[in-house]
Amino acid sequence: MTHEAWGKVCETLAKRIGKNNFTSWIEPLRWAGLRDGVARFEVPTTFFGDWVSRNYSDHILGLLNAEGHAAGRAEFFVPLNAPAAAPASEKPSRPTAAKPARARNDEELPGATLDARFTFDSFVVGKPNELAHAAARRVAEGGPVTFNPLFLYGGVGLGKTHLMHAIAHELQSRQPHLRVLYLSAEQFMYRFVQALRDKQIMDFKELFRSVDVLMVDDVQFIAGKDSTQEEFFHTFNALIDQNKQIVISADRAPGEIKDLEDRIKSRLQSGLVVDLHPTDYELRLGILQQKAEFYRQQYKGLAISTGVLEFLAHRITTNVRVLEGALTRLFAFASLVGREITLELAQDCLADILRASDRKLTIEEIQRKVAEHYNIRLSDMIGPKRLRNIARPRQVAMYFAKQLTSRSLPEIGRRFGGRDHTTIMHGVRKIEELMTTDSQLSDDLQLLRRQLQA
Ligand code: ADP
Ligand code: MG
Repeated sequence: MTHEAWGKVCETLAKRIGKNNFTSWIEPLRWAGLRDGVARFEVPTTFFGDWVSRNYSDHILGLLNAEGHAAGRAEFFVPLNAPAAAPASEKPSRPTAAKPARARNDEELPGATLDARFTFDSFVVGKPNELAHAAARRVAEGGPVTFNPLFLYGGVGLGKTHLMHAIAHELQSRQPHLRVLYLSAEQFMYRFVQALRDKQIMDFKELFRSVDVLMVDDVQFIAGKDSTQEEFFHTFNALIDQNKQIVISADRAPGEIKDLEDRIKSRLQSGLVVDLHPTDYELRLGILQQKAEFYRQQYKGLAISTGVLEFLAHRITTNVRVLEGALTRLFAFASLVGREITLELAQDCLADILRASDRKLTIEEIQRKVAEHYNIRLSDMIGPKRLRNIARPRQVAMYFAKQLTSRSLPEIGRRFGGRDHTTIMHGVRKIEELMTTDSQLSDDLQLLRRQLQA
């Protein structure tokens, strides 16, 4: 491959990761050729190489391959005749960190930095986030506005910020003329307060009203902050009136955000509201597999078995950030101590995370939730009544007690008013049987499971 070909890759790369990132991290690379599927680059320091490798090698490899150059791995090396490499502690400054992400050819958008890793490519789609992903994709096409605003909500670490950054990246590369502004609600407030203080409120208004796409992350932050809410409301309306796309995220549904004005709530609900559900086992496994593939390249050849990934997907159910952190630590640890990644190593090295993620769900909680759902009394869960409308919910609770806790059948029996373990087994089987034919029941189970695991 020639220098020209690399130049072409650079052009696309600049668009994709933004000018700032490009100048800081890609421009200093010296193309050193592609051989046997390995793309090689000279870098000024080891730290620099590590950083680029960690953050950009996926992009680089992807683009090389897209241009028809088969590259499976990127290698970054400090040339022998280079001046002594700076020690790792002298990190090259990261000018991008503090600088705003902005649409190209725009000098003023006071946005937040976009994380180059948060792209659609790196977002794993599963049942729990399918709808949110599809909606985000639609917005990212930049076509005619179909739903406005798009409101994404869900618990911590479920991918809201990832999806918003992905929309911004995609828009910047597909529609570079669009002015895309992404920022957190906190930054919005900060800018607003600053504008008030500096008596530049007209500039502030003008700026926010001149964007084509506005994305505000974690909007629950402005709850209870009256003047910021007021300003947000006006900005929001002005953009909607101009048919400009707005994307909002929050940790809960619009109606559930306390201390948010009703008119804002109803405005937020007027477009498409989609929630990201807690991850399920398959999604967690998918995410782990993707990250593991990435780390396999980083830590040349360090392998992780499917068994270990399944173990992690099973045990770490809280949020994706924790899951990622676990995998990162596991690879780093294994490579440091020069050991293979086994189940024992995982248990050792992740003991604290595993302990914290242990299901703390109790049988009593399950009984309470299920009783609530079916509108029966908690005492009926343990009582002797055999009426169908009581017995069935009781069996549902038995089923979840078996599925979601590590209690044995006799232990579960004791907590259901001293019932025999065979009664519990019968109840669990009954529900397993019915759920395949009774769609109402299967809906109930799904809803309850989600609530219990939230
Ligand atoms: P939120 O904003 O909802 O709190 P983030 O978007 O910050 O969550 O996600 C937390 C971490 O988990 C990020 O590193 C993100 O890349 C990762 N993540 C979340 N969901 C997914 C997914 N579906 N596929 C890949 N990575 C994901
Ligand atoms: Mg977030």
